[in-house]
Amino acid sequence: MPDPKEVIEKAERFFKQQQEIYGNFSVKLTQEISTPRSPEETKDDGPEMNQVKDSTEDYDISKAQEPVQPKPDKEVSTEEKIAACQTLNELRDLCEEADELRTDLKDTNLVFGVGNPNADLMIIGEAPGFNEDKQGEPFVGDAGQLLDKIMKAINFTREDIYIANILKHRPPNNRDPKPEERQQSLPYLLRQIELIDPKLILSVGRISATTLLNEDTSLGKLRGKFHPFHGRELMATYHPAALLRNQKWKRPTWEDVQKLRKRYEELGGN
Ligand code: URA
Repeated sequence: MPDPKEVIEKAERFFKQQQEIYGNFSVKLTQEISTPRSPEETKDDGPEMNQVKDSTEDYDISKAQEPVQPKPDKEVSTEEKIAACQTLNELRDLCEEADELRTDLKDTNLVFGVGNPNADLMIIGEAPGFNEDKQGEPFVGDAGQLLDKIMKAINFTREDIYIANILKHRPPNNRDPKPEERQQSLPYLLRQIELIDPKLILSVGRISATTLLNEDTSLGKLRGKFHPFHGRELMATYHPAALLRNQKWKRPTWEDVQKLRKRYEELGGN
């Protein structure tokens, strides 16, 4: 007769092997195994004690290796999602879903940005207006037409440049973007700038310049010079909508964009 202990050890080895192959499961050995013992060993037992309950009864082999509970997925932060965008299309998709980019005007369209994705010059305005919201494209109204003329005067077409705004959704009644709206949009815009990687940025209007340069001052103090900006250079000038309202800003704007063109060439922009 085989040694019962050996049989049990063999069975355990077998179950462990099966567990390694098929994963965790639990085994109950319900059959009692009788262990013949010598008359000396059994002399003090009552009649039923001749049947020795095997120590492996109710042996739960799964206890030897507790199942590993899968950890809940770590929540990915907005910053991580933005940083993970490797293309403008990926960033646009993220912007489409981002409620934090919306203003309190309902059902507006995303105005992500438009132009040459490899542009060396990027123009950044304030926020979409009525026409921009309808068409999903920045600077398509009267101010946009004037911007095109200014660009043409310094030998740029829309195909040469990339245009975006601080906000990606239209504020109600074209009010100024609120500080919290600007701060929520900024990380998306900064990633957009990184992906386009322009040599120069032209910031048009006070909202754009003060948000990007993080300086609460007048446009008159910021315009006309190149500011260091995340490893690039940024020039601030008047907003074309301001020029439509007041002719007196035309000359300084003309001076600024001429400096811009010169710097663009110095930096090897094309
Ligand atoms: N004004 C802006 O600042 N941006 C636009 O897209 C249109 C008008």
